[in-house]
Amino acid sequence: MAYSGNLFVVSAPSGAGKSSLVKALMEVDARVRPSISHTTRAPRGQEIEGREYFFVSDAAFDALAAADGFLEWAQVHGNRYGTSRAGIEAHMAAGHDVVLEIDWQGALQIRQRFAGAILIFVLPPSLDELRARLLRRGEDAPETIALRLQNAERELAQAERFDYVIINAVFECALFDLKAIVHAQRLRYAAQRRERAETFGALGIA
Ligand code: 5GP
Repeated sequence: MAYSGNLFVVSAPSGAGKSSLVKALMEVDARVRPSISHTTRAPRGQEIEGREYFFVSDAAFDALAAADGFLEWAQVHGNRYGTSRAGIEAHMAAGHDVVLEIDWQGALQIRQRFAGAILIFVLPPSLDELRARLLRRGEDAPETIALRLQNAERELAQAERFDYVIINAVFECALFDLKAIVHAQRLRYAAQRRERAETFGALGIA
């Protein structure tokens, strides 16, 4: 699909702080649109249907996948998660920037479809801190936390396949880094020429 906005994909192991970073970015940047994924996992904590996720049964997920309703999907920590095509195509068609908060497998699938996607990996400052954050969150059962930590080391090894890395030691610094990446994409020649067509025209370089 031809697409004039930016497609940002943010991945990280659970507990690295990816969701908080993306949420904070969207609070200050109205040009970035989120994608709400579908998942077969149960809601946790304060999660609300249609806000964090669309929570669906295995059968509903199967039906959407069979109807080619996902741009990507993957099995993560024993549940399935997918980016719905309908959910983001409207944003893309309108030329908005879209941010996907998905795991590394999904990120690589997105890159196959959209060569221009910008892949960002968020790292925790250490494995100890990752464990501490998962425990502090207090939303997952001990066996879920154990599984997520076990998966984390394999996930971290995928960071080298991404375009950018943010180390989330101090939240404000990590947010600054994320904003910098988003801003830099908007300064690329093609983006500037599109956004500032009048200026380019006046300068005779359209
Ligand atoms: P959680 O259960 O903690 O909300 O998410 C678990 C993992 O699934 C996270 O790494 C999250 O980014 C990932 N995830 C969420 N939505 C999607 C999606 O649509 N596709 C893929 N591939 N991963 C997703």
